[in-house]
Amino acid sequence: MPLTLRFAARSDVGLVREGNEDSGYAGPYLLAVADGMGGHAAGEVASRAAIDELVNADQLPDGDPIDVLSTAVSAANGRIDDMARADPSRAGMGTTSTALLWNGVQLALGHIGDSRAYLLRDGSLTQITRDHTFVQSLVDDGRITPEDAREHPARSVVTKVLQGQSPIHPDYSIIDVQAGDRLLICSDGLSDVVTDQEIGAALARAHTVDAAADQLIALALGAGAPDNVTAVVGEIVDADAAASADATTASYIVGAAAESIEDAQPSESQHDPEAMRYAPRARRRRRRRWLRPSIAVAAALAVGWAGLTFANGWVRDQYYVGVSNGQVAIYQGVRHELGPVHLSELYAVPGGLPLDALPTVYRHEVGATIAASDLSDAEQVIDTLRLRACRTHQRETTATGNDDSNGDEWLGDEIGFPGLLCAG
Ligand code: CA
Repeated sequence: MPLTLRFAARSDVGLVREGNEDSGYAGPYLLAVADGMGGHAAGEVASRAAIDELVNADQLPDGDPIDVLSTAVSAANGRIDDMARADPSRAGMGTTSTALLWNGVQLALGHIGDSRAYLLRDGSLTQITRDHTFVQSLVDDGRITPEDAREHPARSVVTKVLQGQSPIHPDYSIIDVQAGDRLLICSDGLSDVVTDQEIGAALARAHTVDAAADQLIALALGAGAPDNVTAVVGEIVDADAAASADATTASYIVGAAAESIEDAQPSESQHDPEAMRYAPRARRRRRRRWLRPSIAVAAALAVGWAGLTFANGWVRDQYYVGVSNGQVAIYQGVRHELGPVHLSELYAVPGGLPLDALPTVYRHEVGATIAASDLSDAEQVIDTLRLRACRTHQRETTATGNDDSNGDEWLGDEIGFPGLLCAG
């Protein structure tokens, strides 16, 4: 039985973030999500660049679909490298990349980062990617449970993304499919706040892929949507049935990648068939129009509320991990600046953990600050970061043959990173 792929994509800035650093794509052969990271809007640039390159793979693959997909992913990584070199303010920017390429029979899956792909078959949902995150490595080591991971303060720390580095090690696999299968690729803005059970139920319940994508975004918004949310949904259907149905065949580009097109061509895009092909649907714009005023109202209320509650202690009970004079530090309060109201202050610099000692991905996360639910959570984040830095430099020292320490009895000075305190 010939099969075909139906598809839909939605992306929403969420209820807290100011900009959307996610990008998503859905077309006849390709489904993809990129969740960008990096300061000064570099996350948007990175995810947009990745999708721009991946889109070139949206055609019937000539040969092994994994080869075709990995070529596109490498091109995306190369583009990020070029852009970071061209503009130092973008150094360190990166993006997740999770994509499915359809060859009419099977799907090739390429994945790096903490976006996720799921397969729904016969009402049962399976995650078909493994998160490249610090907390997933703790789960794999048996140090925490998957339930702990959902609440862990360092759950957003990724261990692998596309950052223009070489070589890259994405995961690739082939997914066998059958008519009726539904597929989802989403950013962590969905999977962090909506359980797999809820995701599976929404995917199963929706009559169309468009409805499924809408409902998944609505679930994330209903859960507070602290991050950007992107959902790309596919469905494997009998090609004959699909041909007779009124199914959409125009591709979708959503999120940061779509906004670049709108910004670049504000008027012509309405009449340019190629730009229209990639333009997000009117439905999405309508939603954003009513969301914007509600966000403004919520923000205004939050300013007043935060000012009033700070003195009462709620904000003082909040902590996060950031940087002070090049050292990883604990701050009390919340990092947002609301006009003249100061909502945080330096609480402690534990010392012995210079920001520069951290591997790049963690350095970026700390630079952007890591939220903690309380003081002991913040201390735990620092402990895990310190362990990560020490292990990294211990490995490097061992590799270069300078290691005269053993076990856990070693200090940063001994393993080649002055100022890093690893034990004692
Ligand atoms: Ca995200």
